[in-house]
Amino acid sequence: MDRLIRRPELQGTLERVGRPQLLWALREVLADARRGGAQGQPVPSAGDLAAVAGNRAERAAEARPVRVINATGVVLHTNLGRALVSHRVAEQMARAMAGYSDLELDLATGRRSSRQETVGQLLCRLTGAEAALVVNNTAGATLLALAGLAAGGRVLVSRGELVEIGGGFRLPDVLAAGGAGLLEVGTTNRTYAADYRRALEATAPDGGAAMILRVHTSNFRITGFTHRPSLEELVALGREFGVPVVDDLGSGSLLGTEDFGLGPEPMVQASVAAGADAVTFSGDKLLGGPQAGVVVGKVEVVRRLASHPLARALRPGKEVFAGLWVTLDHYARGEARAEIPVWRMIGAPSEAVAARARTLVEAVAAPGGLMAVEAAESAVGGGSLPGETLPTLVVAIDADAETLARQLRSGRPPVVGRIEAGRLLLDLRTVLPEEDEELAAALRTALAASA
Ligand SMILES: *Cc1c(COP(=O)(O)O)cnc(C)c1O
Repeated sequence: MDRLIRRPELQGTLERVGRPQLLWALREVLADARRGGAQGQPVPSAGDLAAVAGNRAERAAEARPVRVINATGVVLHTNLGRALVSHRVAEQMARAMAGYSDLELDLATGRRSSRQETVGQLLCRLTGAEAALVVNNTAGATLLALAGLAAGGRVLVSRGELVEIGGGFRLPDVLAAGGAGLLEVGTTNRTYAADYRRALEATAPDGGAAMILRVHTSNFRITGFTHRPSLEELVALGREFGVPVVDDLGSGSLLGTEDFGLGPEPMVQASVAAGADAVTFSGDKLLGGPQAGVVVGKVEVVRRLASHPLARALRPGKEVFAGLWVTLDHYARGEARAEIPVWRMIGAPSEAVAARARTLVEAVAAPGGLMAVEAAESAVGGGSLPGETLPTLVVAIDADAETLARQLRSGRPPVVGRIEAGRLLLDLRTVLPEEDEELAAALRTALAASA
């Protein structure tokens, strides 16, 4: 170990990663070599051991998560971190983390205050709700709503809305985790208000129905012979039978997606106006902010949730409140479309995307016919707007797609594209303009390596 760590070719690594990390890597590499030796494999030279350990240490010391160029065209790509926040949001989040703040202190009185207060006020103004509560994510918000409003009782859910959101988050399991039973209503494709009424009447004598939960089918579509009652109808039923109505929007949106040439995504304001007791939506989907789960609704309901012990367990850190405040401030100033990356990307005219694609093709200067700019569709993704796409123009590369994709992923920064019909497509809609030159360089390197 002593001789290895002093080898001249490891001194740069030693300086970059620090002694402990290089020692870990050397120990692992030596252990591998010993195991191999015991199985009769040749013992590597000291130089080989040093080279392998040096690489391993450098790779392990790379800051995680690794910055990636998203050329998939999927704006809300959960594997790549979902929504990007604006620079102003990122700055405010960093500031909140690196310095003290009045997070829970009323500067006027010197008394303790709530971290929820200022963000809650903006949420109420923007959505028309009476009260708001922010937790770590929407899965947490749904769990809290169930535990706080329906534990020990049964929750009415349409059979068309018993969804799996992804990552094993399945609605029936969340109900169970929240201590609530499931009362399935209607059918997969058609559920009427009358179905809810029948279920409420059937359970009314023992008061077993504790909540009506409406869930946005955010990642799939049922089309054809379908029916779903309006939220207003469910709210009227909830009032009549004295059970709260919770609307899980998943993404939810504060802007009308139709203005961007897309189909409608449910708007938070509309659910609040319809009278839902609680509406839940994500901070890092179409809102375009940091990861968070937002609950807005009636003051008594939100208060009940806020005082539940789970609310404390699901409480976000200061950086989330800082980031969410600035994100909401973009909406309050009427500048969301121009300032929030999610909306900028969704709203980017395909001609602007195409111009950058053409510049990329020119900059890479690959052999003729290898790269072409052609029409395609971008998905918004991230549990929003299922089946809806934006017309876009992509760079299509006529090389072995799997090999090229692997080369691009292994570069620094890694580039992730999408493969369609055996070809690699790069969609600049989701590439930040300041990354265009890096993308060209990465593509040149990857094409050279895979040639
Ligand atoms: C995405 C989604 C969730 C989960 O949101 P997170 O913020 O990722 O926890 C819950 N419900 C629906 C309908 C969703 O689309």
